[in-house]
Amino acid sequence: MNIESLIRENIRALKPYHSARQDYLSGILLDANENSFGSVITIDNLSLNRYPDPYQREVRTVLAAMNDVALENIFVGVGSDEVIDLIVRVFCEPRWDSVVLLDPTYGMYRVAASIQDVQVRSCLLTEDFQIDVEAVKKMVDSDTKLIFCCSPNNPTANLLHDEDILALCKLGAIVVVDEAYIDFAKKESLAKLVLDHPNLVVLRTLSKAWGLAGIRLGYCIADALIISYLMKVKPPYNINALTSRTTLQALSKGVEVHQTVDAIIQEREWLVEELGQLLCIEHVFPTDANFILVRCTDATALYRILAGKDIIVRNRSTEPLLENCLRITVGTHRENEMLIQAVKEYYA
Ligand SMILES: *Cc1c(COP(=O)(O)O)cnc(C)c1O
Repeated sequence: MNIESLIRENIRALKPYHSARQDYLSGILLDANENSFGSVITIDNLSLNRYPDPYQREVRTVLAAMNDVALENIFVGVGSDEVIDLIVRVFCEPRWDSVVLLDPTYGMYRVAASIQDVQVRSCLLTEDFQIDVEAVKKMVDSDTKLIFCCSPNNPTANLLHDEDILALCKLGAIVVVDEAYIDFAKKESLAKLVLDHPNLVVLRTLSKAWGLAGIRLGYCIADALIISYLMKVKPPYNINALTSRTTLQALSKGVEVHQTVDAIIQEREWLVEELGQLLCIEHVFPTDANFILVRCTDATALYRILAGKDIIVRNRSTEPLLENCLRITVGTHRENEMLIQAVKEYYA
């Protein structure tokens, strides 16, 4: 498969901005109009007066080792949201190309495509929230550059079948698999498959299992060619020094993350059990994520009752296939108890 031919012509020809710190990270640095006297405050002994490494070599080295791929297979963004935006910009010609989404799914794919004036083709998941491969096939044509899959999917909470994702990889477009919630599933990431599938992009984030939504760090794993084009179009210093440092510290805490994930999964199972016993909840969908999708007798009423008690969940009931559905994030045990209590008080 020729990936280069899927890249927009202007991006193929683009001469990227040549930034300071690209060639020299140390020495007598008089090349970037920084403040050589230092910064007004210092945090963690970081040289905050200097622009950070535009290649993010340290962070990418650690992420590469963690995912058993090379540094050249890792791209780091300001959350996965930036990665999604840049993928659209590398591949999709505004007003000409299209992307396919598997609805109901994460809202940012549609927003990123729409900002670029790229056509969005929505293919519904099946009743059990799996990929309708035949339906996707019919939607894809030579101007379809991207197919977005989310596994486990937000908001339906289930994993998609690997064999369906791999079937999509044969359709001639780039397949983006968003694994934001993969740490909560008892399943391996597809990351290593990028080594034999040059059109597969796997998205990961530190915002969920790692508990670091505040620092904005997401990344993707893909063939080196795709990574090289993302590097070309990204803002030169997209990842700041504080985020890089925090990331490096966090990535050494794998054991602790694993423990937290186990605790969240245990809470999830408790919550699934409790929600299943409530009369106002008709169905609790199976979950491989840190949230639960439920079908209620009246989602909007329940949503309002909970909001009235300062318990905020997500009302997804206007989306296709999600009539009367709420999405509930697993909280601490105390928070989960308060949620169940609030529902019981009202519907007792
Ligand atoms: C939360 C979430 C993300 C994370 O986005 P960041 O920009 O990395 O915080 C990505 N994809 C999905 C499906 C999500 O639900």
